[in-house]
Amino acid sequence: MKYLLVLAVVLVAFYIWRNNRAAEAREQTATPPRAPAPPAAPDAIVTCRHCGVHLPSREAVKGTLGYYCGPEHQRFAEG
Ligand SMILES: [Zn+2]
Repeated sequence: MKYLLVLAVVLVAFYIWRNNRAAEAREQTATPPRAPAPPAAPDAIVTCRHCGVHLPSREAVKGTLGYYCGPEHQRFAEG
């Protein structure tokens, strides 16, 4: 009698587990995998007006005539 109870518990647990798996499979087939989010827009690449080096705009120094790789080249180019 004791083994019958254990068997019943195992069967119920197996039944619940199988139902969960079936529900998960249904959900996966119903909703297609979501496309990955587009990567964040990269910084625009700008060219130093003095030496021509390319660098991201957030690292560049913006002068009145354009972008520079540093304040030194801004001073050279703009005086
Ligand atoms: Zn430069």
